[in-house]
Amino acid sequence: NGDESLASFIRRRMGEEALKKMAEPMLAGIYASNPETMSIGSTFPMFVETERKYRSLIIGMLARKKAMLLNAKKRPTSNFSLFMTLKDGLGEMVEMVIKKSPDIQFLSGTRVESISQKEGGWSVNIEGGGEHQAQALILATPGSITARFLQSVSPKAAEILKQIKYVSTATVTLAYKEEGFSHSLDGFGFVVPRSEGHSILACTWTSSKFPHRTPEGYVMLRCFLGGALKEDIAEKDEATLISLVRQDLKEIMGVHEEPVFSKAFHNRKANVQYEVNHSQRIDTVLQELESGLFLAGSAYRGIGIPDCIQSGTQSAESAIQFLAGEPKVEN
Ligand SMILES: Cc1cc2nc3c(=O)[nH]c(=O)nc-3n(C[C@H](O)[C@H](O)[C@H](O)COP(=O)(O)OP(=O)(O)OC[C@H]3O[C@@H](n4cnc5c(N)ncnc54)[C@H](O)[C@@H]3O)c2cc1C
Repeated sequence: NGDESLASFIRRRMGEEALKKMAEPMLAGIYASNPETMSIGSTFPMFVETERKYRSLIIGMLARKKAMLLNAKKRPTSNFSLFMTLKDGLGEMVEMVIKKSPDIQFLSGTRVESISQKEGGWSVNIEGGGEHQAQALILATPGSITARFLQSVSPKAAEILKQIKYVSTATVTLAYKEEGFSHSLDGFGFVVPRSEGHSILACTWTSSKFPHRTPEGYVMLRCFLGGALKEDIAEKDEATLISLVRQDLKEIMGVHEEPVFSKAFHNRKANVQYEVNHSQRIDTVLQELESGLFLAGSAYRGIGIPDCIQSGTQSAESAIQFLAGEPKVEN
């Protein structure tokens, strides 16, 4: 009935080899997490549900596949592809939100230092001076920053949020001339089990997955490094990261060519870790919150961008209900 780690679940259901060769690179890899500590309930609840409902993962997957095929026949064909992104990059989403909200004042580049209770509402204190008053506040900052804001107003919630870990990752993007490139790129990329002894965790063949991202006549690859099990690699400088990636691509894909473009990005402490019993801890945080405070973002109920959008929408609805004087609903 309780939560358990991804490693414990996979070992119990499918054995050690399935954990090391499939679950660790494919499932823990999405979260840049250690499968021994990450919560199965907060990351892949559908597996827990499948086990509960069908007794066996394989029987459950076959049943789900059958149901999907039946549903697909009933539904009109859709234009959605397996992978989706925004045409001109994710910044487009922020630009569009600003464009569609002419009545909202955005203070980008402004750092909040603290929040405090004032005259029955909230005061937001800006670094370097300045103060904003509000009846309701939605805190959409990373968990560690939110913990700092809550320290004086909801200390128990702050203590729990402080324990949520973040790990660092890095990505390296390489572009090559398509003509004479030594690999056919007939897929979307690959993940690498730790036992193979390479630096990279995964490689996306960007020009196959999102062709519009690469100019005609070129191919592009994007590799991921770091995460909970290899965090030290994510801290290396750009030249070292590019060299590690090129060595791995030579050994794994046989790519010997010189890239025409290479760039490394550091995502320092950007990947939140959902450890065993994460969901119960978040329940406690929400119960401990002072009235008029709401939380949103990847630290709570899902790390994907759609999860974050849902989290923001729910918090906004809860804040509106609060302002209208309706009873509190969980966000
Ligand atoms: C390398 C990588 C690849 C990923 N790939 C995918 C993917 O393919 N698909 C997918 O769905 N998800 C992906 N994710 C996950 C997803 O991008 C994140 O989970 C999501 O963007 C987190 O959103 P958020 O709003 O919770 O946090 P953030 O986007 O980090 O927003 C927090 C905001 O708080 C602000 N802030 C911090 N401190 C303060 C302060 N003191 N005052 C004011 N503001 C402050 C920050 O500036 C920031 O804007 C990926 C993540 C990484 C790192």
